[in-house]
Amino acid sequence: MSSPRQALTDALAAGLAQRADQGLLRGRRVLQGAQGRLVTIDGVDLLNFSSNDYLGLAADPRLAEAAATTAARYGSGAGAAHLLNGHSAPHHELEEALAAHLGRARALLFSSGYMANLGVVQALVGEGDTVAQDRLDHASLLDAARLSGARYGRYPHRDVDALAKRITRAQGRRLVCTDGVFSMDGDLAPLPELAAACATHSAVLMVDDAHGFGVLGADGAGSVAAAGLGADEVPVLMATLGKALGSAGAFVAGDAALIDHLLNHARSYIYTTAMPPPVAGAALCALGIMRAEPERRSHVLALAERFGAAARQLGLSVPVGTTPIQPVLIGDSHTCTQVAEALLERGLLVPAIRPPTVPAGAARLRISLSAAHTDADVDRLLGALDAVVPDALR
Ligand SMILES: *Cc1c(COP(=O)(O)O)cnc(C)c1O
Repeated sequence: MSSPRQALTDALAAGLAQRADQGLLRGRRVLQGAQGRLVTIDGVDLLNFSSNDYLGLAADPRLAEAAATTAARYGSGAGAAHLLNGHSAPHHELEEALAAHLGRARALLFSSGYMANLGVVQALVGEGDTVAQDRLDHASLLDAARLSGARYGRYPHRDVDALAKRITRAQGRRLVCTDGVFSMDGDLAPLPELAAACATHSAVLMVDDAHGFGVLGADGAGSVAAAGLGADEVPVLMATLGKALGSAGAFVAGDAALIDHLLNHARSYIYTTAMPPPVAGAALCALGIMRAEPERRSHVLALAERFGAAARQLGLSVPVGTTPIQPVLIGDSHTCTQVAEALLERGLLVPAIRPPTVPAGAARLRISLSAAHTDADVDRLLGALDAVVPDALR
């Protein structure tokens, strides 16, 4: 009989081999420098269309300097959870700045967006309550609903009528969760319609704006503001700091009662070390840049429009969308991987997104644009796609 260690290894290896056969095995590449327009991998500089660094801030020297200054004064680690004594002035200042920027009473920092979603949903609903969410919501929202103990279900993508039918029959507190911008499709949630359905059916609307915050709306306030909505319609607003803001972590913004409730009940807030103060320092710096340099936003949005229009001209399957996330739909996972490899050979880093991140048969190249890109970069990408995407897919 094999040892437990050997049996585990054999079982895991068999599972990995099966994934590999399906073209679904995942691995990592090591970056030998900063995130940015160009990234260095295996000594080669690649033009990068793979990050969520929408405003080109992840490697901005001003953020690095803010982090260094904060580290010098507050240390590199928080040393404790927020509710013990890990909540320092940089955290507090960042929370106040985020709340003010969004016109909400308060904001609460979490160490990551994944943890924010787990904490918020679990703190707001439990057994006897109901969560409804879009089928394409981020994995962290799905996991959050599952963990909460509430009944949960997913409605077809952007289908507000289907949602309304579901929540009419729902018991307990009703929570509707949606991404503001869907992470693998780059399309927008129908927020005004969702808000109206939630008002009619006494449901609380929570928006995860990981990809909208910093990019959409006046001053980068995000998809909720862009839709002309506020705290009345979307009482629970979550967004992350690791994408457009080039740092890390996340926050929830809302009324004082919401924030005090989360602070007391959200387990992923309470039972974890506070975000490192230098990260809060960098995020605060990024918030200032985001407000002071609106041209970053207009540039990345213009690049997205330019890319989408030209890609459709080439016959590529790129849905019309107004965000920096521009998917090129491929379908088959093996083909998608081959196309991404061919792009890599031409010096372009573009991720092949495969199931289970997207539904079966919906593999795609997920192009993400950044304010650091130029028009010439987009043209180079278009030329390479034209050369490597098989005609059968046009
Ligand atoms: C990235 C992302 C998250 C998770 O945020 P992290 O800070 O990376 O953990 C949550 N929701 C959406 C929609 C995301 O795209």
